[in-house]
Amino acid sequence: MMQAAGLDYERLPVPPERFAECVRALHAAGFAGANVTIPHKEAALALATEASPIARAIGAANTLRLGPGGAIRADNTDAPGLRRALGDRPLGSALLLGAGGSARAAAFALREAGADVRVWNRTPDRARRLAAELGVRPEREVRPADVLVNCTSVGLEDPSTTFQDLSLPPDRLVGYATVVDLVYRPGGTLLLREARRRGIATVDGLEVLVQQGALSFSLWTGREAPIGAMRKAVAASLSPSHAPAHRRPT
Ligand code: NAP
Repeated sequence: MMQAAGLDYERLPVPPERFAECVRALHAAGFAGANVTIPHKEAALALATEASPIARAIGAANTLRLGPGGAIRADNTDAPGLRRALGDRPLGSALLLGAGGSARAAAFALREAGADVRVWNRTPDRARRLAAELGVRPEREVRPADVLVNCTSVGLEDPSTTFQDLSLPPDRLVGYATVVDLVYRPGGTLLLREARRRGIATVDGLEVLVQQGALSFSLWTGREAPIGAMRKAVAASLSPSHAPAHRRPT
């Protein structure tokens, strides 16, 4: 996606114990910035010499800008990327499924958009903690709302257990005007397929990925991202003919 946008962009797998050392060496190696993904987003924020209010509020960074003298500026485009992907849909209330890093960004984005945000998680303690830290409400049961956002990794590997794992019978999907699945996979996810079958509006995780990437691009370059080319590259990378190494989600 970033190469299609015209950036000289490389994938760099780094083990957690070498993350700080690696990021500190990037500027001297010629890199102007980096995207950071699981499991490094919290470490990226901790390492930064400067952080945006959004990254600080969420507690994680996915975009770094690197400068001379060891400067590392941390930002988070996951939250505004989701907000952009939602467009002008009604956001009066939202139910988030999950309490990991992406749920934190989604809670921030939807709370800032004025939604009444509730968070359900398989491990309720984590939902309670997230809710307390981000000023939203924990939820014990999956209840109707304007927007449902799947922020779990459910549906990524084995779609057949999706509705069981999410404690959400497919027929209850009609309780939502819009269903968002942050998970993306070749052929799409069962959650979104079942939502569409019921005439419910959907937002694909790929669109959220593209929108957060476009915002990162603008932070690094100061330019508007070529979003059409990015969207096309992402779609092509998930097509069945593409090499498996490029299909891994970020
Ligand atoms: P994470 O921090 O590891 O959190 C994973 C979440 O999934 C936790 O809430 C966990 O619940 C839940 N979960 C895992 N297996 C489950 C199961 N079998 N049943 C019920 N809940 C289960 O991951 P993350 O960073 O939030 O990412 C979550 C997903 O979103 C990933 O698939 C990732 O690829 C995707 N994502 C997409 C984008 C995008 O741009 N589209 C951006 C970020 C992430 P427990 O707390 O109970 O373990």
